[in-house]
Amino acid sequence: MAISSNDKYLLNNGVEMPVIGFGVYKIENELMNDTIHAALNAGYRHFDTAAFYQNEQELGKALSESDVSREELFITSKVWNDDLGYEATLKAFDKSLQNLRTDYLDLYLIHWPVEGKYTDAWKALEKLYEEEKVRAIGVSNFHKQHLEDIFEACRIKPMVDQLEYHPQLAQKEMKAFCEDNNIQLEAWAPLGRGRYFDDPVIHNLANKYDKTPAQVILRWDIQKEVSTIPKSITPERIQQNIDIFDFELTQQDVTMIDQLDQDNRLGKNPDNFSFD
Ligand code: NAD
Repeated sequence: MAISSNDKYLLNNGVEMPVIGFGVYKIENELMNDTIHAALNAGYRHFDTAAFYQNEQELGKALSESDVSREELFITSKVWNDDLGYEATLKAFDKSLQNLRTDYLDLYLIHWPVEGKYTDAWKALEKLYEEEKVRAIGVSNFHKQHLEDIFEACRIKPMVDQLEYHPQLAQKEMKAFCEDNNIQLEAWAPLGRGRYFDDPVIHNLANKYDKTPAQVILRWDIQKEVSTIPKSITPERIQQNIDIFDFELTQQDVTMIDQLDQDNRLGKNPDNFSFD
């Protein structure tokens, strides 16, 4: 059980990944510098971006100008659909490295399982991993059938699957599948973009523990052993979202949140959406 924001999950290749990180999707470029500095000051060392977010450069600038050393940071980026393919993915990775002002990534993910394209892209990730340009490789929005394709066609198993995960989408099947295959589950939109804060169960638990609804939900992630990457541009919320290590939900309260699952998605369903 994680007891501090510095705690880490051990990935299947022995690399340690901080249990909590900071997501930067849709943070406007002009807000990135102040926001990233607020996140560093609050104690975040794990940052989640993607080529698709078009803010890698701003993230790279803010991180490289901070006092925090590169070794203390855990930086994730993702290859977007347009760049899926062996050569194209290798090229996209180089561009992300350049944007992020670093010579290695901690985690590189395939952003979306575009039919017919992801096994070649995965082979490129394997090469990058073997060349030690990235410490861990993984996928995002991959369901069982997509992961099984990778297991069959490739040599290295993904270390992480980043999935939409929040109280109304608890991903029971994928969570069990990832656990069985030693793949770390990471939650995107962990706060459900604020939509479930008024749910009576969350609201009552926030009162019970004298915490905010956001803190209760993020604490649930940690107790489910899911890595979580909330996003905010508000300094108080940025701080609040990492201050989740001074309380513990009872098992009964964890189960109450588990029961809010309605298989309710904010994003597209990777089973039937391919972006083409
Ligand atoms: P989120 O669930 O983290 O919600 C963010 C929103 O919640 C904020 O914009 C703000 O409105 C609100 N919020 C945050 N903290 C709050 C607090 N303490 N109190 C009240 N409101 C608060 O949603 P997200 O940004 O979509 O997801 C988090 C990260 O996941 C992204 O930034 C990105 O890095 C990643 N992501 C990945 C994918 C993918 O396909 N792999 C897709 C979406 C997001």
